[in-house]
Amino acid sequence: MEGFELNMSVVKLILSYLLFKEAHALSGNFWHITDLHWDYTFNLSNDPELVCNSSSNRPATNAGKYGDYVCDSPLHLINSSVYAMKDILPDPDFIVWTGDNTPHVPNKYLDEKKVLHIISRLTHIIKQVFPHTKVYSALGNHDYHQKNQLPTFSNNIYNQTAEMWQDWLDPESQETFRKGGYYTERLLNRTGFRMLVLNTNLYYDQNKETVGMEDPADQFNWADRILTEAANNKEKVYIIGHVPPGFFEKKRFKPWFTSEFNQVYLELIQRHHSVILGQFFGHHHTDSFRMFYSSEEPRSPISTMFLSPGVTPWKTTLPGVEDGANNPGIRVFEYDTQTLLVKDVVTYYLNLTHANGARGRWEKEYRLTESFRVPDASPASMHQVLERIANNRCYLQKYYEFNSVSYDLTECDSDCRIDHVCAAREVDFEKYECCLQKEGAAAIQSGILPLISVAVSLVLASR
Ligand SMILES: [Zn+2]
Ligand SMILES: [Zn+2]
Repeated sequence: MEGFELNMSVVKLILSYLLFKEAHALSGNFWHITDLHWDYTFNLSNDPELVCNSSSNRPATNAGKYGDYVCDSPLHLINSSVYAMKDILPDPDFIVWTGDNTPHVPNKYLDEKKVLHIISRLTHIIKQVFPHTKVYSALGNHDYHQKNQLPTFSNNIYNQTAEMWQDWLDPESQETFRKGGYYTERLLNRTGFRMLVLNTNLYYDQNKETVGMEDPADQFNWADRILTEAANNKEKVYIIGHVPPGFFEKKRFKPWFTSEFNQVYLELIQRHHSVILGQFFGHHHTDSFRMFYSSEEPRSPISTMFLSPGVTPWKTTLPGVEDGANNPGIRVFEYDTQTLLVKDVVTYYLNLTHANGARGRWEKEYRLTESFRVPDASPASMHQVLERIANNRCYLQKYYEFNSVSYDLTECDSDCRIDHVCAAREVDFEKYECCLQKEGAAAIQSGILPLISVAVSLVLASR
């Protein structure tokens, strides 16, 4: 009997080892970094207005070697972020890098050569630290001269960047990148998995090059074809890009795409959602996400776009945004290597104030499944996260603090709640407006109705 018991425990041990091994074999991870915005003019000048060009003469009163909240990143911060990646997760399956490498300065301070030099320098740093890692890299609206004006045809910047990134690009990718700044290839060269890298700067409403066009650089048509083929070949797809559709959560009614391009993008996702397992974008510098729902009722969650925080802490100058800075953030996505389901999101950050003081330490900020109590980061779970944020003050406040990478710790009031909830819930222009009205009405109800009922009861009591 004893021998039998011993055998059973050995079998149990082997079984649990095999299960553990399988669970881990299915799990992969990748880094997402975005909006590095290197300000090469950064210097620790005694005059706070002369610390960096990107401050636009706002005084950089807390400048230190890691930067200042009114400035874009000094090289020290960029190096520190890439080495932090190496320390935290030295061997990711791949890296996603979604653009915006030059500083927020007027066009006159930059030219084509400088823009290319900046992209080249940052490419070099990433290559040096991760020499054997595949990088999927998208252009941002600041990766061109003049900024935002990315064209629909081949040009020096697309060509030179394709050269710099040639180790990361298949020959076919090089070709489409040179023409339109976008490409696709099999994810890690594996059959059944695909990466789609878009140049959504073509849809940015600040881009004068694409005004009045139906399909700039033929990108929508191309993406539609690639996604149709992906479905036919039973592939799973990740989409990455820089400028996202939908609205900025820190400023009401602030979209980035023109309404026409916004609509076409949304329809593209609705048409092909069954093969799209995740969308990863930047541009906001904040930590947020966008839900995509099916067009037919009842609306079900079909896709999530993750908006990862930027490395630059730069306080936005966008009128109407108060104190729009953030701590530098970088993030790891954990995913199922068989299905590409996003299992978890772990964000790391550098508290800039502390870093400039005694110690600069990149730390874990939060893990999505822990902080929002969901099983994974699937569209259904992200819908649940959104509902928690919309209906529970504690979750809202937690989300709000993460939104600025733990920089702005003030209270998210009812107006703030509406802006964040509606931006995350509705990418569609009309539906976003309806959401504002609906949630606004709810705020009025919860704010004024109790007051009316108190007044009525007081009147009744005084009789
Ligand atoms: Zn940016
Ligand atoms: Zn941008």
